[in-house]
Amino acid sequence: MTPLIGITCSIDEQADRLQLNLSYLEAIEAAGGVPVLLGGSEATARELLSRLDGILFTGGVDLDPSYFGEAPLPGLGEVSPRRDSFEVELCRAAYRHGIPSLGICRGCQLMAVALGGDLYQDLPSQKPDTLQHAQRAPRSHRSHVVTVTAGSRLAAIAGGETLRVNSFHHQSVRRLPPGAAACAVAPDGVLEAFEDPGHPFWLAVQWHPEGLWQEDPVALALFRSLVGAAQEVASRGR
Ligand code: MN
Repeated sequence: MTPLIGITCSIDEQADRLQLNLSYLEAIEAAGGVPVLLGGSEATARELLSRLDGILFTGGVDLDPSYFGEAPLPGLGEVSPRRDSFEVELCRAAYRHGIPSLGICRGCQLMAVALGGDLYQDLPSQKPDTLQHAQRAPRSHRSHVVTVTAGSRLAAIAGGETLRVNSFHHQSVRRLPPGAAACAVAPDGVLEAFEDPGHPFWLAVQWHPEGLWQEDPVALALFRSLVGAAQEVASRGR
């Protein structure tokens, strides 16, 4: 069976609408998965878990810092409470049940915070002297390099230890949750990817491979690795 990959959506709170950049959906299709768009209540999140073979946690607005015990700082951006509560529940359940998951940008931050990590709410004000991580260039432009940890799952996917990536974030993971390990770091020390070696497939990247996969084989390989891990879940049956 072709694996079913759930994709989290943004919520336009003012218009009361779910929304998703099609590039996420197209990347999952190109990698051989069947995409299904996700949204709803915390109860829905728990119920969805038994029907999905993999999950893609997508980019979007900032996470509510109350999830890591902080009040909002002036540099915090827009927050979506309904999106946060759905995704935190989905993420915790996916981790517990060994569901292969790939996080992108906000999704990377979510996968850290939902399991006990924390974030820089705003890099420019909290961690001066970083590179420009909110690039002012097209999605397909890879503006900075990252160093990939040798021996990591990401290194196996990337086929090397230096990657050039795009960058559209003003937050980043500060403290990783228990069990997680950094697997890519920018030259300024900003964490750009992490994984959990104890989980069947738990990988989070701070950059946006959905904006790169058509030209960048490593970006497509990230989606293929998620779908491949999900295929194992689908074929063993749950
Ligand atoms: Mn970056």
